[in-house]
Amino acid sequence: MTVSLPCAFTCADCGIKTKMRGLAADLEPPRIGPVKMLVEAFLKSYNALIAAKPGCRQAFPPEIALPALFDLAVSAGYAERMVANGGWIYCASGPSLYFPFLDTCPKCSIGQIRPVLGIKGHKPNSDPIGQICGETILAIFSEVFRLKGLSVRLAKSTNRQGDVDFAVYDEAFLALAEVKASPLVLYAIGLQLKDKMEDVVDGEKVAKADHSPATIQSVESAPMTMYVANRNRHISIGPKSHESWPFKELSEYVADLANLEVILEAWKEVYDGYVSEWAGSAARNRWMTAGCGGKVDDSKNLPGLDRTDDIKKGTYQVLKYGTSYKEPCTKRLVRALLVSNLKPVKSWVRYLADVQDVLWTKPKYRREAESLDSSLVAFQKDGVFNLYDGIVCLTGNVVGDAKIGQVFDWQP
Ligand SMILES: [Zn+2]
Ligand SMILES: [Zn+2]
Repeated sequence: MTVSLPCAFTCADCGIKTKMRGLAADLEPPRIGPVKMLVEAFLKSYNALIAAKPGCRQAFPPEIALPALFDLAVSAGYAERMVANGGWIYCASGPSLYFPFLDTCPKCSIGQIRPVLGIKGHKPNSDPIGQICGETILAIFSEVFRLKGLSVRLAKSTNRQGDVDFAVYDEAFLALAEVKASPLVLYAIGLQLKDKMEDVVDGEKVAKADHSPATIQSVESAPMTMYVANRNRHISIGPKSHESWPFKELSEYVADLANLEVILEAWKEVYDGYVSEWAGSAARNRWMTAGCGGKVDDSKNLPGLDRTDDIKKGTYQVLKYGTSYKEPCTKRLVRALLVSNLKPVKSWVRYLADVQDVLWTKPKYRREAESLDSSLVAFQKDGVFNLYDGIVCLTGNVVGDAKIGQVFDWQP
């Protein structure tokens, strides 16, 4: 199926028609798996919640709800991909087994200054992480556009070596996007036990050592949970017995408004702690988060655009979209976006605050104007470009272009 990008097919005399057709050939409508079900159920329930409880609208604006949804859906994606019979840990407090994604016991590290160490979490490798996070962002955008009745379309690149991750377009507008998304909170998979476990050591029965490795009989029959550590809440997700596990089970869970409120509150509490740099009592939730350091997760893995490597790479990419597509498009239909789940918190001041509103041009656009004061220079209007037409993040946007502000307005 051909993606009919405006420049490639409808802009009659565009300067980069051939190049745009090449780009269009690499794009296809995104194929979104069972995460779609969770995104739809979550946003439907969210709209019902804020309609029913005005206090919730204030407490949980879309800039809280959408990134909370992202982390829940990405945790589900990790679970779907990674959960195995081996690789669990036994936690005597509970008692429960956990299959964590960070290198600690999710339960026992809550509220602790020093996390429990010596545990191996099971995050996927970077390729599947990129795939899961990219698909989740597209699923969220797609549903937000649908709910708002926007006619813009999404297309995803199939060329992993290509310039563009995805495109948002209609007949007169085309935004090229680089995605740098990764979760803040990772919810571990749990399995609640009726009794404490025992081991046999030297012919004697002893209590199984806390946080020792454990194996379960079968993920296809175990009644698993997703564990919201800062609420000590096990969400039942059942055995991995069908293709849409655990998205279907989580969809059913969030369909209940009270459950959704728990997820929103719990996520917001962690996010607020993260924003405060774990000041005071907020520190209790630190070990639930990606990039938290302390040997639980490498600080290189900070969420979203707080990863400074991603700001640096993403910024080159939008400049490249500018010179390769925006500038040669005669009708100036193209926009360049940097997209993430999380707007930088830690890295904002140091890396983006001074860069966010940069404009660029080239000497060839310079114009002589006799009337100009000698302290001024003039450039042709359509030869001046935004570096970022948008830094589009679920926690809040930086908007350089009116159309981008309109398409990515998160208010329901
Ligand atoms: Zn064009
Ligand atoms: Zn524990």
